[in-house]
Amino acid sequence: MGIEYGMGLGIAGAIWIGIVFVALIGMASSLFLGFCIYYDALYRRVENAVMWAVLSGLFNILALVYLIVYVTKSPQPLRCIQCGDFLLPNSRFCQRCGRPINSPSLEQLEVYSKKRKLFFWIWISSLALVVVLSTLFVALIIGSMRFYF
Ligand SMILES: [Zn+2]
Repeated sequence: MGIEYGMGLGIAGAIWIGIVFVALIGMASSLFLGFCIYYDALYRRVENAVMWAVLSGLFNILALVYLIVYVTKSPQPLRCIQCGDFLLPNSRFCQRCGRPINSPSLEQLEVYSKKRKLFFWIWISSLALVVVLSTLFVALIIGSMRFYF
């Protein structure tokens, strides 16, 4: 009886550690999704990139809202914030009023694109890990229950 109780505690302990571990990976995956949205927003020159990243990190469903709003929308041509004239891609000054443009360079956009892809794959991997580990722990719980009943 005493040995069985000790073994039961060991399995229960392992399950609790497992649940906490899976929950931590789940929380981290939200963070990765936030980063993915952040770099995507920078790449698309979306205003409020930080706001979208934080909202997507807190409520993952809002990442879907972001995608519907911005990814389906065709990219807006860049315009000068001073005179409203259309800007040539990758230009450093407005050709009409001469205002310097602090839009990201092509190299910078390349970096944003790479980072959003990187965080997308880290996010997908962490989700896959959560699914695999959850299945494993459910199997373990069912297995340990059969041991007692
Ligand atoms: Zn201008």
